[in-house]
Amino acid sequence: MAKLEVVISDEIATLCSWAEHNLHLSFIDAIFAQNQLLDLFLQSTPGIARPVENLSLQKDILDPMLAYARKHKLSTKEDTILFETRVMGLVTPAQSTVLATFDAKAATDGIEEAEDYLNSLAVNSNYIRRVDIAKNVKWQVLNARGDLVITINLSKPEKTNKQVLQEFTKTEVNYPRCALCLENLGFAGDQMRAARQTLRVIPISLCGEEWFFQFSPYVYFDHHSIVFSKEHVPMKITPDTFVRQFDFLELFPNYFIGSNADLPIVGGSILSHDHFQCGKKVLPMFSRAARGAYRHQDFNDVAVYVLDWYNSVVVLKSKNRQSIEKLAAIILSEWRNYSDPQSNILAWTDGKPHNTVTPIATLDDNGIYSLYMILRNNRTDEKHPYGIFHPTEDMHNIKMEGIGLI
Ligand SMILES: [Zn+2]
Repeated sequence: MAKLEVVISDEIATLCSWAEHNLHLSFIDAIFAQNQLLDLFLQSTPGIARPVENLSLQKDILDPMLAYARKHKLSTKEDTILFETRVMGLVTPAQSTVLATFDAKAATDGIEEAEDYLNSLAVNSNYIRRVDIAKNVKWQVLNARGDLVITINLSKPEKTNKQVLQEFTKTEVNYPRCALCLENLGFAGDQMRAARQTLRVIPISLCGEEWFFQFSPYVYFDHHSIVFSKEHVPMKITPDTFVRQFDFLELFPNYFIGSNADLPIVGGSILSHDHFQCGKKVLPMFSRAARGAYRHQDFNDVAVYVLDWYNSVVVLKSKNRQSIEKLAAIILSEWRNYSDPQSNILAWTDGKPHNTVTPIATLDDNGIYSLYMILRNNRTDEKHPYGIFHPTEDMHNIKMEGIGLI
């Protein structure tokens, strides 16, 4: 027997009620949202909401609404996710409301409560699509040289290094110019780009500049988040990068913050827009011991270690963040020009730089700042056209995209 079609106005009323209970949508905004949804679904009178306590958003509310939209040609099979995001955007509290709530929670209950509020909003509004994230496969590998957490990420497609380079160098103006630009707020998306009506961001000040905090829709780890520059400017690791990282930790001390490197092959998937990745302090590297300790004569208050880890990592630790910032600037500058032909490391080819760092920072409960500087080199040669320090072609089914900090 054919399934009876839902009464769409009842579903709309139910969704608005669900949003009041699960997204902190106010009573008055729910009335507004209901009228917007009635218009979207070509209805003129409101329906009656079902009790929402035991309803699954996806299965019990959205899927029937999406089926109705498809049947009545309001959406197509191809744009189902775009249409769903449009619907959810109408019942997700406005950007300014979310910001006010986040700030109020941070002021009265502390930053962790505010983070949890924003994270649960991201999950409940389907901005973070749990159904897709659940497809990822994740396990831990114990090893004497350091435990690893391995993830097979099935929710975000990998880019080739060629694609990343093309996006980095292309000059045509699109809108929004990239997936990280602030102008994605409320963006409807298309077949190539994600809809962002459910994206909500928090403005912060780093190094005296305007930056924005948001959760990543592609969750690799707990509270995986992104901090991006207000300006669409390319990734660039400079001494200011370290200042921005420590400024961030003053605001979000329970997170780590790292930047991908600023060169193709050793950078992440987006080089065209300066940004950081953050989240709970989950990186396996954080628990590794040092295999060498040093002091710089001019920076007695900074402990310097080389980490016993798969990458070459220099760690700077101190209660004095300014000392770390200055010493890190010296190390960055030295490394940019460092060559060691025996180890296949050449700093330059025909004026093109190869050396950079992936910097990751944390702040612990005792007020000790740490900066992990992973030394990177992106040179290619005839034998290694994809990068001397990159997976060879036979391993590209496992990892092809530039190796960032994750
Ligand atoms: Zn951008």
